[in-house]
Amino acid sequence: MAFDVEAVRAEFPILQRQVHGKPLIYLDSAASAQKPRAVIAAMTHAMEHSYANVHRGLHTLANETTDAYEAARKTVAAFINADPTEIVFTKGATEAVNLVAHGIGASLQAGDEVVISQMEHHANIVPWHFLREQKGVVLKWVPVTDDGRLDLEAYQRLLGPKTRMVALSHMSNVLGTINDAKALARMAHDAGALVLFDGCQAIVHKPVDVKDLDADFYVFSGHKLYGPTGIGILYGKADRLAALPPYQGGGEMIGSVSEDEITYADPPHRFEAGTPPILEAIGLGAAIDWITSLDRQAAAEHEHALYAHVRERLKGFNWLRVIGDAPGKGAILSFTMEGAHAHDVAQILDRYGVAVRAGTHCAEPLMRRFGVTSSARASFALYNTIEEADAFVDALTKTQAFFA
Ligand code: PMP
Repeated sequence: MAFDVEAVRAEFPILQRQVHGKPLIYLDSAASAQKPRAVIAAMTHAMEHSYANVHRGLHTLANETTDAYEAARKTVAAFINADPTEIVFTKGATEAVNLVAHGIGASLQAGDEVVISQMEHHANIVPWHFLREQKGVVLKWVPVTDDGRLDLEAYQRLLGPKTRMVALSHMSNVLGTINDAKALARMAHDAGALVLFDGCQAIVHKPVDVKDLDADFYVFSGHKLYGPTGIGILYGKADRLAALPPYQGGGEMIGSVSEDEITYADPPHRFEAGTPPILEAIGLGAAIDWITSLDRQAAAEHEHALYAHVRERLKGFNWLRVIGDAPGKGAILSFTMEGAHAHDVAQILDRYGVAVRAGTHCAEPLMRRFGVTSSARASFALYNTIEEADAFVDALTKTQAFFA
């Protein structure tokens, strides 16, 4: 099955719109991807035909909605080769990391070590900083090489008898580097530590098999995976989830409640206090069904071809610095332009209809590592075209003329 980008684009109504009188060229999918009709339709259908609160009803709509919500859990589980009981719906990857850090933190003591890296998103930094502040846990940072890889020798040296947890990105949202999660997990386990992967970016571009990776925890968000906002996934190995205390208290997460005592439900419901993101779970299930209906390998090759094409064209531009050139990296291009602030670059590109992100990308330690305060970032998705890639480079050249 060849990859038909025009057929894919036809599934995304928003791609028809114009910005400042120009066709939209959306190169900000790493921040949040656009939504295909399948997702819009699934959520609309639920709201128009089959909606009620889940789990607590005895009436038809409550049962139908519960079935749809639990079916979405099964879809997510199958997508990453997990059991449905190992899938917790959260409101996003950020909440998923916080849930794990909070739970693991309950048994950590001063001097225990958590290994993270310089390429983490703040979502996989700040929750661990909380443990440093609250418990005296020591954060150990895996350095990043000049071309944007994790320094594996340094990682090995950081792992030791006090390492309790390793929390690393599977794919960097700034550098595009794809880390060898399986090797990282093996090294963490050899040191007796648990491992969490932030899969927000990786899950979009490559098949993920949590069993094969041997991840203890794996987190991602729905909205970068062509699904809705307000939904994220925490995968945890069954025994790891069972060992975690609850994160929030409320309805649906209890076994029983009396005036003197509470017992908790088993995972995953123990971690889903209150009314969950029902419509969003249904939307995410639809997004995954849609993605798995495509030839994912062909989609990944298409994205990579766009990136490689742009990278090649940029080679002659001595006014542009690309940050992150790791071998095998994904289709994310971070760059700075000589004499220009990244925010200005993004605003001028917008005049040409090109949407890129600019700022720290919630990765301040990484910005510092590369000696910049911000960068611009173009991220390529399966709905982008080679013509858009060319139009982006042309718009970059025109943008540069403002600062020359
Ligand atoms: N990790 C990475 C690598 C990300 O790119 C993002 C989103 N920018 C997050 C974590 C946080 O995801 P969310 O905001 O959806 O919780």
